[in-house]
Amino acid sequence: MAFGEFDLIQTYFTQRWHTRDDAEVGIGDDGAILTPAEGSQLIVATDTMVAGVHFDAQTPARAIGHKVAAVNLSDLAAMGAEPAWLSLALTLPQLDHDWLTHFSQGLREICEYYNCQLIGGDTTQGPLTVTVTAQGFVPQGQALRRDGAKPGDWIYVSGTLGDAGLALAAQQHRAHISDNHYHRVLERLYFPSPRVALGQSLREIASSAIDISDGLAADLGHILKASQVGARIDVDELPMSLALTESLTADEAIDYALSSGDDYELCFTVPESRRGVFDTLVARHSAKPTCIGRVTNEAGRLKLERDGETWQAPSTRLGYEHFS
Ligand code: ADP
Ligand code: MG
Repeated sequence: MAFGEFDLIQTYFTQRWHTRDDAEVGIGDDGAILTPAEGSQLIVATDTMVAGVHFDAQTPARAIGHKVAAVNLSDLAAMGAEPAWLSLALTLPQLDHDWLTHFSQGLREICEYYNCQLIGGDTTQGPLTVTVTAQGFVPQGQALRRDGAKPGDWIYVSGTLGDAGLALAAQQHRAHISDNHYHRVLERLYFPSPRVALGQSLREIASSAIDISDGLAADLGHILKASQVGARIDVDELPMSLALTESLTADEAIDYALSSGDDYELCFTVPESRRGVFDTLVARHSAKPTCIGRVTNEAGRLKLERDGETWQAPSTRLGYEHFS
């Protein structure tokens, strides 16, 4: 008997997977039957990863499974949501049991870690493409949005910036780094940690939030545009790993921290009046947030400063269209 779509779902996406009480029916029927938590709003995000565009042939299947869920959970985190359910649309060029074993392992591990249930999907044949839709809850009216930043608010980012970009550059021989550093930054490129707990604890504290998928400058730019405000950033305050500072010149490191993507940290703004609560409740998180600047009233303008002077991006590198 041929190994069909049904066997594939049964073997790789059903057995030993994490379940939740609020999914009355998950995989197996024409649709899932779900009960959102009372008094909450549903937050829904979708992201696709295409072979040759978002990852290359050397990317381990386990990393693809982890990351396609992580990028969606990162969107939920940026909304302040508690993740609950994932759906998976999987397009495969052929039946590859080894690939499916590792891909499903990566996806299953992150589902379990964040108490998410895979509640359905679709399986088709074609060029390798993976799409996840994630759903989660926020208490009514408490979702974090991009459009709430006000002049005077403080700007924070979690964790460190530029690591995933450095890994990609090293992989493509655009940067030379030690094996030790490479090992660490590659982990960040392949297995990003969505800031799920931080996002939830920012409800009623942050005035705006976004996750950093395209680079700090670009993503903070979305907050500025949506909120019709500007920002002043002190580039000396940008949080960087040792891998970044020991592998690059100071200017290059700032450049990576500002403009390389795939870090999946959170960037958010906190009003002065919430700063005390923020410091006591949130600042102790593992991906400890760093204050990098302040919101201004110059709509759409991102000012980069160092020692109180305007910081000039090194002209040798591309990617500064972000700022012009
Ligand atoms: P239908 O043809 O009714 O859309 P399918 O035969 O495609 O149903 O899928 C059968 C069941 O398996 C459905 O519950 C669907 O959500 C689930 N499913 C299909 N593909 C996947 C997948 N890649 N991951 C998780 N669930 C899947
Ligand atoms: Mg189908």
